Amino acid sequence: MLSFDPEKVSLPVGHYINGHHIQTQGAAFAVKRPSDGKIYATLREADAADVDRAVQIAHQAVKISGWAGCAPRERGRVLRRWADLIEQDSLLAQLEALGSTRPVSDVVQHEIPFTAEAIRFYAECADKYSGDLFPTRDSSLGMLITEPYGVIGAITPWNFPLSMASWKCGPALAAGNAVVLKPSELTPFSTVRMAELAVQAGLPAGVLNIVQGSGAVTGHALVTHPLVRKVSFTGSTVTGARIMSDAAQHGMKPVTLELGGKSPQLVFDDAGDIDVVAQRILRGFTANGGQACVAGTRLIVQRAIAAPLLDRLTVLCRSVQPGVTWDGDSRYAPLIDERQGNKVASVIAAAKAQGAEVLVGGERFADTAEGWFWQPTLLCNLAQDNPAVQQEIFGPVLTVQTFEEEEEGLRLAAHEIYGLCAGVHTLSLPRALRAMRAIEAGTVWINRYGRSGDFIIPTGGFLGSGIGKDLGRQAFQACQRQKSVLIDF
Ligand code: NDP
Repeated sequence: MLSFDPEKVSLPVGHYINGHHIQTQGAAFAVKRPSDGKIYATLREADAADVDRAVQIAHQAVKISGWAGCAPRERGRVLRRWADLIEQDSLLAQLEALGSTRPVSDVVQHEIPFTAEAIRFYAECADKYSGDLFPTRDSSLGMLITEPYGVIGAITPWNFPLSMASWKCGPALAAGNAVVLKPSELTPFSTVRMAELAVQAGLPAGVLNIVQGSGAVTGHALVTHPLVRKVSFTGSTVTGARIMSDAAQHGMKPVTLELGGKSPQLVFDDAGDIDVVAQRILRGFTANGGQACVAGTRLIVQRAIAAPLLDRLTVLCRSVQPGVTWDGDSRYAPLIDERQGNKVASVIAAAKAQGAEVLVGGERFADTAEGWFWQPTLLCNLAQDNPAVQQEIFGPVLTVQTFEEEEEGLRLAAHEIYGLCAGVHTLSLPRALRAMRAIEAGTVWINRYGRSGDFIIPTGGFLGSGIGKDLGRQAFQACQRQKSVLIDF
């Protein structure tokens, strides 16, 4: 039975530093449940001194514990045990479902296995990538060795708290670093539970610390701390730019930035079964209530099949039902909070003011208490400069544009700011490959929309959608720095 009582979930309150729950005296902030808007906890923010303590402890722990210098396979063993505990822990699933927008069934079936498997993937990487030997004269030895950075600062958003934490911590820890992670202040608890399980699995205390608080105070202190040698961030493009600037000014730190998107779904008239395509499009823009950087929120469809596809999509949109995230039968995510709801409403209003027409949805579901469940929304009649086409909405809103010729479709698919992902739906291989080459995006999915469980495939954006890659061996290698060595003998 997946359903649970939200009042009976035991919360790991406070920061998690050196293997202990720590309460500090920083500014208080309330935490609300997205499903009904109820305040269920109050936390205190980590200020610069608290962050300093967490970073100093991480800096010491990674050396003293031997985590950085132990046999890489030993790190792999600990990470595999951690992944097992993550899969077995029912509290973790409840904390995620309670505080985030993910229905508990989705957390148990997808988020938790995905989180655990990402960590296992990086456990396997621990001893797989090494340096290099260079051709030099016989009396010298030239080589490149890899080493961990030391302390990596990680900042995660509220849309996928657990998997985002695994994408940051998995490669960083496997490579022998310590991590100080700040989850979003909107979803603070599941990440702490994850860190507790890491210590239970054998990760030395202090090697993974969690600090709670706002981006402006806690996040800023983490990014600018002199002992934080690298920063890994997922969130908005605006915040990513700020973090990149802060990291540059405070130590020229490398950054991995996984940022926003406004991804097109390009559907050609030879895309195949319309029902299958409609299901794909629906999942692409409504998964997690549209609150995913990769959400496929711009449908660009060839005119010949626009009408049947939109008919099918309209029926599917109307069939969606809201339900609180702690009910095992719920499948549809609420928006994270009122601010996000207002943002969705304001972009739709601005789109309508510029001529957009609402084909279906366009409003919050009635009778969902204080939860912000937004109806799947189709907008049509849109010029390319309409705000709904241009802005990342982060809600279940799909803009619909049509085209006649392939070239016109590709032109509409291009975006000036974002280049995270794109979906191309066609059964013609040459057409699919032409589109794949033409689209300026870090990921192109052909006849599917969304990631698979193949963690070897990296993810990351072009343009304003980010720098560097999460997942894949690239994320592991980005958690190591390379040192050139030349020995004369
Ligand atoms: P942000 O990008 O502001 O927040 C993401 C994380 O960064 C949070 O943990 C946040 O802290 C932290 N942060 C904020 N400012 C700083 C800073 N100066 N230094 C260090 N860390 C900082 O996203 P929001 O939550 O404000 O959401 C706004 C919009 O961003 C959404 O509507 C959506 O469009 C986009 N977004 C994109 C995501 C993606 O996956 N690419 C994920 C989330 C949002 P805190 O929130 O705790 O203050």
